[in-house]
Amino acid sequence: MVQPATFPACPPEKMISLEDQASGLRGVIVLHSTRLGPAAGGCRFWRYDDMGALRTDALRLAEGMAYKNAMAGLPLGGGKAVLAVPDRAYDREKLFEAFGQAVRELTGDYVTAEDVGTTVADMTAVRRVTYHVAGLEQKSGQPGGDPSPWTARGVFLAMQVAARRQFGCELDQLTVAVQGLGNVGSHLCALLHEAGARLIVAEPRPGVAAEIACRYGAEIMNKDAILGARADIFAPCALGGVIDRDTIPLLRAKLVCGGANNILATPEDGDRLAERDVLYAPDYVANAGGIINVAGEYLGWQTDEVARRVEQTGERLARVFDHAERGGVSPARAADLLARERIGRARTAAELQPA
Ligand code: NAD
Repeated sequence: MVQPATFPACPPEKMISLEDQASGLRGVIVLHSTRLGPAAGGCRFWRYDDMGALRTDALRLAEGMAYKNAMAGLPLGGGKAVLAVPDRAYDREKLFEAFGQAVRELTGDYVTAEDVGTTVADMTAVRRVTYHVAGLEQKSGQPGGDPSPWTARGVFLAMQVAARRQFGCELDQLTVAVQGLGNVGSHLCALLHEAGARLIVAEPRPGVAAEIACRYGAEIMNKDAILGARADIFAPCALGGVIDRDTIPLLRAKLVCGGANNILATPEDGDRLAERDVLYAPDYVANAGGIINVAGEYLGWQTDEVARRVEQTGERLARVFDHAERGGVSPARAADLLARERIGRARTAAELQPA
């Protein structure tokens, strides 16, 4: 799921290198922005070719979190931790405790949680050392636990709004091609089925695909062909970077709206979609339900406050579409512009115009 960095990152406020020989901890914490609140963003634990690639990924991910949190209206900045999986034997608990120590030293400027490669058990180890962590076991009636149902709900609401705009109808008139039936994709299929949408799905695990197909009457497609499915909507819920110069011509759908992070390989791909009259729901606007739940856990909200904010996903997306139309830019650029303005890194509209 880790994609090569392609976005030109704005400079972060701070990048802290982590190195602890005893535990094997090696990586970085990037604080992209703390202007709206503590820099919040999960901890990725992954293998990289070298530390340069790890740092570039961390920079890009931290910037993405800053935009996502800002657009979700959260009192949080954006950051990310990326740790290298050690090449030698290591004690996982000790490694995450050492990471927790680094988080603690930032005295609340950074709040961590799970991301690709990390688990509730890892965050529990971090919690032994610092309070500045979310993604712990859920307490009854309170936010926390698996964020993916919230993410899927937000994507579903975004899709409803985007479909009305693009097709002038409800989802029961439309076919959705869902790429990836993991945590988010499978929850999304349930919501789409309930709304009466027709489903086409692709997933490398055949048993999972068969189960969803059986439960929701979905058609199964090969994972390498789903992008060209005869569908109205393409919903990427697996990998980042799936929409690029080469894949855009294959796309039959006229709306792209999914749960995956970094759906566009480059910002120019948002322009390419717009040129072909394909409406794109910017990923970090559509998929913020999970981080809203994580924020609720950290900030001590009740579950109904999380739900209220997730239910506003469609309205937030509609504002991005309106802004794009008014400014004559793609929704992807409009979202970046709005997010940067909100963070206080305002860029001029001219800078965000397609070249
Ligand atoms: P997941 O690992 O549970 O699901 C990913 C699924 O995609 C897996 O079932 C995997 O087998 C499948 N897959 C892998 N390669 C594929 C391919 N080529 N074609 C089709 N399917 C493929 O992950 P998830 O938690 O469901 O997250 C999915 C995406 O959404 C990721 O990009 C993630 O970063 C993003 N996201 C997740 C959340 C969340 O709450 N979990 C929040 C925001 C964004």
